Amino acid sequence: MFLIIMSDKQGTTKPVKGAIVISSELCKGCELCIHFCPKNVISQSDKLNASGYLCAVFNDNGECTGCAICALVCPEVAIEVFRG
Ligand code: SF4
Ligand code: SF4
Repeated sequence: MFLIIMSDKQGTTKPVKGAIVISSELCKGCELCIHFCPKNVISQSDKLNASGYLCAVFNDNGECTGCAICALVCPEVAIEVFRG
């Protein structure tokens, strides 16, 4: 596990927080992002999308680091990552 650190203009450091948006249209429910997320903040929906897949959903509890592993492993390019 690793932590992304950013330094501000004063030289103080703070952990980077992130967020993701998962496209329910593109997701095919392969679960790769769920298994690879180091913070376990992605789970499977209990509702089918328009194509009949159980999509991945982001559970934003403030733990996402914006590491982008989920986006890198997604074969459908269904995940956008934001860092704050
Ligand atoms: S960016 Fe990283 S921590 Fe955030 S949901 Fe994706 S894999 Fe998990
Ligand atoms: S890796 Fe992509 S296609 Fe697979 S469940 Fe996650 S968002 Fe959906």
